[in-house]
Amino acid sequence: MIQQTLVLIKPDGVARGLTGEIIKRFEQRGLKIVALKLVKIDNDLAKQHYTEDISKRLGEKVRNMLLNFITEGPIIAMIIEGVNAIENVRKIVGVTESKAALPGTIRGDFSHVSYSYADKKEIAIKNLVHASADETDAKNETALWFSIDEIFDYKRAGDEHIL
Ligand code: ADP
Ligand code: MG
Repeated sequence: MIQQTLVLIKPDGVARGLTGEIIKRFEQRGLKIVALKLVKIDNDLAKQHYTEDISKRLGEKVRNMLLNFITEGPIIAMIIEGVNAIENVRKIVGVTESKAALPGTIRGDFSHVSYSYADKKEIAIKNLVHASADETDAKNETALWFSIDEIFDYKRAGDEHIL
């Protein structure tokens, strides 16, 4: 049941200086960072990450807003590993709409706007973090963002009390 999942700290998170605060949330839960980099991506990689599926699910307009948003500044990409990491990470991140995200989650502690506000401004909702939605997405996304030699297998202090 040990899984790996992709997490991105979106441009708003990096620009606001929240990278340490966000990374801490995963580490303190006992989850392990097995890959990490700071990158500014082009439209090509953005389109491979936010695929046509996004258009089908959320519409072409939201996809275009997302492509603009994710390419506007540097982001942190990381792979987080742990037992049921996909579900655990999504829970730490909180629900998509910042307004609805519960305090205690990353989105609920550091963002607050609604879909309707973002839609009126015609921008993607600035909710700080992306996290893979399910096993299929996690497999595709970790492979898209990292090569095998960028992913590390190591023992962390305390693992014997957690795993
Ligand atoms: P999540 O990031 O929680 O997996 P989705 O995959 O549904 O959510 O959407 C991807 C991203 O698109 C969201 O994180 C958010 O930034 C943006 N988004 C989704 N729906 C809207 C919307 N109606 N208006 C503006 N931005 C949106
Ligand atoms: Mg998603």
